[in-house]
Amino acid sequence: MQSASINLLSLDRSAMENYFLDMGEKSFRAKQLLQWVYQRKVTRFPEMTDMSKTLRQTLQQNTNLDLPEIVSQQRSTDGTFKWLLKLKDGNCIETVYIPEYERGTLCVSSQVGCGLNCTFCSTARQGFNRNLDVDEIISQVWIANSVLESIGSESIKNKQEKCFVSNVENQRRPVTNVVMMGMGEPLLNFDNVVSAMRLMMDDYSFGLSRRKVTLSTAGMIPAMDQLRQQCPVSLAVSLHAPDNALRDKLVPLNKKYPIGPLLDCCRRYVGENNRRRVTLEYVMLKDINDSPEQARMLAKILSQVPAKVNLIPFNPFPQTRFERSEAETIDRFRDALLAKNIFTVTRTTRGDDIDAACGQLVGDFVDRTSRSRRMQQQTGVFS
Ligand code: SAH
Repeated sequence: MQSASINLLSLDRSAMENYFLDMGEKSFRAKQLLQWVYQRKVTRFPEMTDMSKTLRQTLQQNTNLDLPEIVSQQRSTDGTFKWLLKLKDGNCIETVYIPEYERGTLCVSSQVGCGLNCTFCSTARQGFNRNLDVDEIISQVWIANSVLESIGSESIKNKQEKCFVSNVENQRRPVTNVVMMGMGEPLLNFDNVVSAMRLMMDDYSFGLSRRKVTLSTAGMIPAMDQLRQQCPVSLAVSLHAPDNALRDKLVPLNKKYPIGPLLDCCRRYVGENNRRRVTLEYVMLKDINDSPEQARMLAKILSQVPAKVNLIPFNPFPQTRFERSEAETIDRFRDALLAKNIFTVTRTTRGDDIDAACGQLVGDFVDRTSRSRRMQQQTGVFS
């Protein structure tokens, strides 16, 4: 495709309506096109038969519906899938699908790499390369749904896959939930991530409800407020420590947006009558943040925050100095929070054998030049 050609996957409904209006067409063409692309999985213009031949030719000449290339697909023994996708500039990202009982969650990346430098995350090791475009974000959902639908009728290998197959048989798409928890900090790619999430939730596209789309952030306070006003999806916030001294070390962004203001922002997000959902994520790191005293501190700072806590057993990667907390320690930590009426669950680790678990996504870079400069521009915290 020529570089002047616009990728229609990068337009949400309102942008696409404007695009058609600008070319002298009616705005309802946007709905037609979204249905072809996202509901019927048709990406070839000649097949879009409810549009005139002239319009199809114009689209063919001036636009494209190019998708990333699937470099590899791995399938875990627990049914989890991981894809390595190659983008138009050669960079690669990872996307993970986690089948569960009566739902399938897709973990979507928002950036190539990440600039936040959280010490326990392997994506941080590769630094930040660039933001993903809207088409590169929404393509991850398109590809997962298409691939999984096409293998939906294959033999059922285990329990998890059985529920995914039944989703397909029930005419539901394999991807029922999206979590923006793959590579990158989604709120540092705000506009593109919001447009892509609007597409995920559009009735003419994938039609997910806003409760089933969750964005995870390391705590970009101003952007969290903006999200609440513009696109209030479910929110997950990476807390990971009960005090600023420790959180400064684990999540360096804490130096800019510390715990107190962050929890105030979470309260604003939840809003009156618990209108929106907020989950606090807490990675369980052995002898770092998992003591009974830290559980007590956490319960104290969360006593006035209407959010549930998700404990994530640490997923190790090569050359990390961290270890996962013992199972009993995690149980004790959870019970201590529950005893203080803080709703807490431990996240089951999935896709271990294919490095598809939280914090293990790495993708691949083409261009590592001026990486540190870009990281500084992204966050403004690291010098
Ligand atoms: N940048 C966003 C989303 C990406 S990571 C954020 O910080 O929230 C999604 C979740 O996985 C975050 O809570 C992150 O802190 C956690 N995580 C990162 N590395 C991990 C690891 N090695 N083990 C377990 N969880 C990890």
